[in-house]
Formats: sequence, C-alpha cells, structure tokens
Amino acid sequence: AISSPDPESDQELAFEGALRPKSLDEFVGQTKVRGQLELLLKAAAMQNRAPDHILLAGPPGLGKTTLAIIVALESGKPLRMSSGPAIQHAGDLAAVLSSLVPGEVLFIDEIHRMARSAEEMLYLAMEDFRIDIMVGKGAGATSIPLELAPFTLVGATTRAGLLPNPLRDRFGFTAHLEFYDEPELERVLARAADLLGLELSGDSRAEIARRSRGTPRIANRLLRRVRDYELVHGGGASVAAVQAALELYDVDPLGLDRLDRAVMHAVLMRFDGGPVGLNTLAVSVGEEAETIESVVEPFLVRIGLLTRTPRGRVASREAWKHFGLRPPAASGA
Ligand code: ADP
Repeated sequence: AISSPDPESDQELAFEGALRPKSLDEFVGQTKVRGQLELLLKAAAMQNRAPDHILLAGPPGLGKTTLAIIVALESGKPLRMSSGPAIQHAGDLAAVLSSLVPGEVLFIDEIHRMARSAEEMLYLAMEDFRIDIMVGKGAGATSIPLELAPFTLVGATTRAGLLPNPLRDRFGFTAHLEFYDEPELERVLARAADLLGLELSGDSRAEIARRSRGTPRIANRLLRRVRDYELVHGGGASVAAVQAALELYDVDPLGLDRLDRAVMHAVLMRFDGGPVGLNTLAVSVGEEAETIESVVEPFLVRIGLLTRTPRGRVASREAWKHFGLRPPAASGA
C-alpha cells in the first residue's frame, strides 16, 4: 500500500480530522503553494467561476487532503471525496461526475491509480465539462454526450511524474508539497497541542519535531502518544516524558519509520552500501518500486542517508554511522 505504514485505525482518522486546518491562514508552511492557491481562488471568485483544476503532489501526510478540504471551504462549495483505487471503471467515474453540483470540488486521492478508461473520460470532463457515455455494444454502440456542472478537480498523487502527460497537462496548477522543516513542524505541534489542551514546552515541541520525518501527520501522531503518556504518568509533557514516550514506541531519533529502516538495512547489509537498483531494492524489502521511489526515498535523500546515482542507490557515510555499522573497507562511501 502507498499510504503511511502506520495502522490507520478509525480513531487515528478521527483524531486527524479534528486537527486539520480549516483555512489557508491556518495551514502551516508551504508558503509558496499557499500564496499560489490563494491567488487562484481569489481570481476565480472575482470572475464567479470554478477555480482551475489543481494537482497536489508529494509524499503522504504533507497536507494534500487538507488542502483539498480548504479549497472547498474557501470557495464555499461542497466537497466530494474519491480515490483512484475506487475508480476501476469509467462507469464509476461517470456516476460521480454526473452527480456533481455546480462549483463542487471533486477530490481524487491517489489519482495515478485510476483505471485507464476512466482517465480518458476525465480528460474531456476536465476540459469541456462534458462526458460521452457509451451505450450498447459492438456495431450498435452509440455514445451519448452528457453535460456536466462546472467543477474543480483536486487530484493528489505521491509524484506528478506518475501521471500520464495528457492528464497532467489538464491541471491548471500543480503544487509540489515539500517536507516540512523543524520550525514548521513545531508550529504544527503548537497548534495541535492547543487544540488538545496539552501544555507543551518549546523544548518538548522541538524534540517531537525532530523525530517527525518532516511530516505533519507523523508530528500529530507522535503528539498523541506523548499525550497518552502524560495522561497515564502525569507530571506534564516534559522533554524527558517526550523521550520516554517516543522510545516506548520505537521512534527513531531521525524519525525513520519501519519501511525507511528496512530500505536502509537492505542497502547497507545486503548490498554493502550499494549501488543497488530500485527494482532489486524494492523486491528485497517486499514493497512496490513506486512506493520506494516516491514515498521512502525522498525523505532518505533529503536527510542525507541515501544518494541516487546513475548506477543505483548508495548509502552515505552518515547512514553507516546512524546504524552503528562500519562501511566495508574497499567502499569509498
Ligand atoms: P495527505 O493527504 O498529504 O496524506 P493530510 O492532508 O491528510 O495529508 O494531512 C495529514 C494530517 O497532517 C492532518 O491531520 C492535518 O491536520 C495535518 N497537516 C498536514 N499539513 C498540515 C499543515 N500544513 N499545517 C497543519 N497541519 C497539517
């Protein structure tokens, strides 16, 4: 699965919903994307039309769903949520599209997983707010054009490059969401702690931010573990309490999750630090190459544990150090 490796219980999802920012102003970081979206929404409102279609690209947990919700809230229109895996036939998409009300915001998560036949229907829908519905089979088949209400599509994908060009080109605006830096994660945490009524010192915030893998979703989840810990042990959410809580849950000091660690272990131990090709690596950790490339690697590269070279993925000197291993003598890592 492409989603975060943490179990997504209903409770976690409810918790996530409660902490979602409801406006662009509340949305932390991603300054450039926020500014661009603000302009796009304002211009559309002034011209009294549905905003351009928006593509949001980036690893899980960086705020794509949240932004889709904000686009609907800020433009005062209803929101319909769907996902690529749920659209396995053109008919699935036709049912959604034909029931949209004027101006409705349609969010399609993991849009790169949509069925090919639906993709083609979407081209026409995005461009002309129209679809052709095929009726009958073989020689007697005819297509009936169907007018749609103007809508705004917000598509989310882990990497824009996963979309076929004709689909990518039909988005008026593409935003690439980046991992958050620690001060930004601290702001996410300060806001969430306020909402939870949890007192959190600057040091405690920094400690959680450091281990959040550049990801607001993870920051909020760790905060929840810290809150549980504080609830049971009392004494406030001190740095010591934060450390104890996070250690209890095996949270890596760099914020690496299970899959990150599995990938690094494979590169280091099985392939002597690399270079190792993407597909070989994916097979050895039992994940899809796409997930490794668009979910796992971007963070490992960003924190300097892994580099991509033409010959494959290579572990850095810091990687050997972080895992307490010695690089093989011959490797110039
Ligand atoms: P994605 O759709 O990219 O996987 P979500 O939009 O579901 O990510 O965000 C996951 C969680 O992180 C949500 O609970 C949301 O409240 C929080 N979050 C994400 N981005 C931000 C942000 N910029 N500021 C505050 N909270 C955020």
